[in-house]
Amino acid sequence: MIPRRSVAFPLIVGLLITLATVSARSATPGPGSTTLLSPSPLDGLTYTNVFFPKSDPDPAIPTPKALLGFDIGDRAVSSAEIETTFKAWSAIATNRTRLFEYARSHEGRPLHTFLITSPLHFARLDAIQTGLARLADPRGLADADAAALVESLPAVAWLGYCIHGDETEGSDAALAVAHYLLADRTPETTKLLEDLVVIIDPVQNPDGRDRFLKMVAEHRGTSPNVDQQSLLHAGYWPRGRVNHYLFDLNRDWIFATQPETRGRLREVAQWNPQLFVDVHGMSGEDTYLFSPPREPLNRHLPANRTQWGRVFARDQARAFDANGWLYYTGEWNENWYPGYSDSWSVFRGAVGVLYEVASIAEDGVRHADGRIQSFRESVHQHVVSSMANLRTLQVNARTRIREFAAERRANLAPEGPFARRTWAVPPSSNRTRLAGFVDTLRIQGVEIHQLTAPFTAPIGIDQLGRSLTNHVLPAGTLLIANRQPVAPLVAALLDFDPRMTDASLEDERREVLRTGASRIYDITSWNLTLFHGLEAFVLPQDLPSDARLLGELPPPPAPPTVDHPVAWVIDGADDASVALAARLMERGVIVRTADRAFQLDSREFARGSIIITVLDHRRFAGDLAATIRGAAAELQLTAVPVSTGLGEDDLPDLGGQHFRRLEPPRIAVVGRGRVSTNDFGTVWHLLDQHLGIRHSHMNDDAGTPEFPRYNVLVLPDRSDALPAAWREPLETWVKAGGTLIGIQGAAGDLASRTHEMTKVRPLPEVLGKLPDYEQMVFREWLAQIGPMPASSDVWTNRVPRTSKLPWPISGESPKEDELKKRDAWNVLFMPQGAILAARVDPKHWLTFGAGPILPVLAGQQAVLMSGADVETPVRFGVLTPSLNPPEPVKKPEASENEVASKTPEPPRAGWSALPEGFDLQLRMSGLLWPEAGQRLANSAAVTRESLGRGQVILFAGSPTFRAATRGTARLLANAIVYGPGLGTATTVKP
Ligand SMILES: [Zn+2]
Repeated sequence: MIPRRSVAFPLIVGLLITLATVSARSATPGPGSTTLLSPSPLDGLTYTNVFFPKSDPDPAIPTPKALLGFDIGDRAVSSAEIETTFKAWSAIATNRTRLFEYARSHEGRPLHTFLITSPLHFARLDAIQTGLARLADPRGLADADAAALVESLPAVAWLGYCIHGDETEGSDAALAVAHYLLADRTPETTKLLEDLVVIIDPVQNPDGRDRFLKMVAEHRGTSPNVDQQSLLHAGYWPRGRVNHYLFDLNRDWIFATQPETRGRLREVAQWNPQLFVDVHGMSGEDTYLFSPPREPLNRHLPANRTQWGRVFARDQARAFDANGWLYYTGEWNENWYPGYSDSWSVFRGAVGVLYEVASIAEDGVRHADGRIQSFRESVHQHVVSSMANLRTLQVNARTRIREFAAERRANLAPEGPFARRTWAVPPSSNRTRLAGFVDTLRIQGVEIHQLTAPFTAPIGIDQLGRSLTNHVLPAGTLLIANRQPVAPLVAALLDFDPRMTDASLEDERREVLRTGASRIYDITSWNLTLFHGLEAFVLPQDLPSDARLLGELPPPPAPPTVDHPVAWVIDGADDASVALAARLMERGVIVRTADRAFQLDSREFARGSIIITVLDHRRFAGDLAATIRGAAAELQLTAVPVSTGLGEDDLPDLGGQHFRRLEPPRIAVVGRGRVSTNDFGTVWHLLDQHLGIRHSHMNDDAGTPEFPRYNVLVLPDRSDALPAAWREPLETWVKAGGTLIGIQGAAGDLASRTHEMTKVRPLPEVLGKLPDYEQMVFREWLAQIGPMPASSDVWTNRVPRTSKLPWPISGESPKEDELKKRDAWNVLFMPQGAILAARVDPKHWLTFGAGPILPVLAGQQAVLMSGADVETPVRFGVLTPSLNPPEPVKKPEASENEVASKTPEPPRAGWSALPEGFDLQLRMSGLLWPEAGQRLANSAAVTRESLGRGQVILFAGSPTFRAATRGTARLLANAIVYGPGLGTATTVKP
């Protein structure tokens, strides 16, 4: 077999012999075959498959065939074969190529860039990098020096292939393009490399690619297969699109949670490319798509990029026309979400180009019209596209560099489009969360400042869009000025609430009405402060004068010295405290957690803090203090020894009821079958990478697992009902003390069941019983903000003359069928991922680490109704005093709202009334149609209820979206780690 990595060049010759025996599909049929039963559907294709008919290749550069033993297009190359090939070339063409390992995947595969340019440029690569970096950050750069750089630097083209592992053609095309650029001796190619530095990223997701190629190999038969539905082409769960933790890397650019992305972000920043190409595949029965995208376009994308898109598209189209190939632009391809490869690169100053080929695993695919497209032809289309793009950049190289420099200057201009806007993030006792936020920005090249003294901001706007005056920001507040080198990226990441154009909005609305489906391709909001659950403000000003550049975040404070501690406490405000609790329990330590805030030794600790008492460990084998200190240090936490168990004043004492002993979690997560790969992956990532605790993966497709081995079972989002055979054993298991956690589709499924695992119900099922649910909403409000009855009304001997009901009474209540009609209408408008404000029960253990308002990403999910018999620690909507007194009811113009607001009913938020004088705030960021707001307002975001000795916890939407929603991920972490100790009466024994 071919070694996976570290193949030194002298080995190559030996390898050639080995590789030659790994011959192509066309030469050696599949498993055990002798004769084909029928003629190959690929026979007689007139397609010639010559990628570069006019090239004059240097024989000193070995062809891919010489290195691999088969031709590009015979079958997809593995990531090891790609590495071997590039290593061979870089060892030969040392005067013009450089192979650079920029990251390792989770599974340990290297990710490389392969740079090709002229020997002249190659000799001064450092100077080129430095020159582009000077233009990228022109502070202190004289105009004349900038002009000289613009005239002397080559443009940089970045070609990224196969970020989705099962869209294989790109990596094969990358090899063909690289060989051509390296070997071709024609003047055109020589000139191209004198004008450009070309950086090829041949396989952006090697784990996904190799997983998919294994599936292809498993399903390879004796005869070629051209049926796209076949497993040979389709693969199976979790397919190859995603990386090891099943993340879509073409969404990760703005969150940078994956090592592949993180390495790439650093490497792109080294080169400041002027062209950034991301090469994909789509349905094998489609034609070919390339940029420019259609609206909605992110409003922070530089305005001229559509024009550039057309310039590149024109040349690409001409090259396709010459081959008679069909293609299209726009259609489904929009650019609202900034975390795609191509859009992210544009925020940094590149022209971003996306293409999508008819994706074919191998052999070919038969289209509906009978035409067969071969794998080789799809590879060829990418080759032609890449070369067309390089030539377009070559022609426009000077213009693009000049424009890159001018844009970066404008980003910094005191009166420029990004001037006078700064985001402020106050200090947080959640150091881990804050550090994650800082890291996410910094790895994308964003500068962060910090206040050295309190600062009063004359004007500001909070995350709910409310204006503030003279708001005092404490020392230590993080400041992110929009006016900085990567200003458009900063704006895209931090703008609380980007708005689409009216035309886009209208287009989307009409599409939903006409077809019942959204045209928006991804989530509509992603703000990093909201995703992190960090409070933030935007100030209409540049940085205050006493802001200084943020250095390293200070380490956690050193613990005090205590001679004879009775316990150690780790503050629960920090997210990492959950991981610490879990890891200590795995090491045999008995861990307690506090259900409310307390003070010991005059130190304040948040609710959810972790306590380890000396008394609990009289029989602990080992050095308890060292074990605690070591685990805390791993997570950058301070374990504070305390000398007394006596709490200050009325606050809890250590021996009382508020420090419950936790039960070590034994965790299983259900995957495969109809489980969402992305959601499963983020739960797995949370358990592995954030909590670092052992857990098992269950197979949804197999028989019923032996549930009592676990005491926590996580059901990630899914597209259908749970296996029927699981219902009874699962219910028995919960009743015996299990903690069952259902997310999104699984939550909807559990809630809609006829059997009684939960009393939560989806909205459509309870439209006839709304008053039951509305009462609970009123009880929560009255308990929180409601007026107390006058004491004279309480102590009076007479019955008061008037009694107030908490909810207004309307003349006519709509009937159930009318409500059902309204709901069926409203469900059309459910969001494509918008961030909503949710109110938090500050006394519930599931909300440890959350403030009073939690930003929650909501999408196409069940609307969960929870009444008095269900705990609802997080509910959608935050009460706020009405800004405007009630207006006289106007007759609405003919609109779809007319049905819902025909009678002048008292103010309502969806299915429930509002307390007088208050509004409900819901939308924080992203597109939320009023109809969807009506459905979601006051519904449950997170529920918990007991069942027998166990419990059921439901998350209406995914709490761990792309591992980026750190605010809600904390709640899932709480559920998993603390569930068995806090929510259950006893525990399931293995
Ligand atoms: Zn793709």
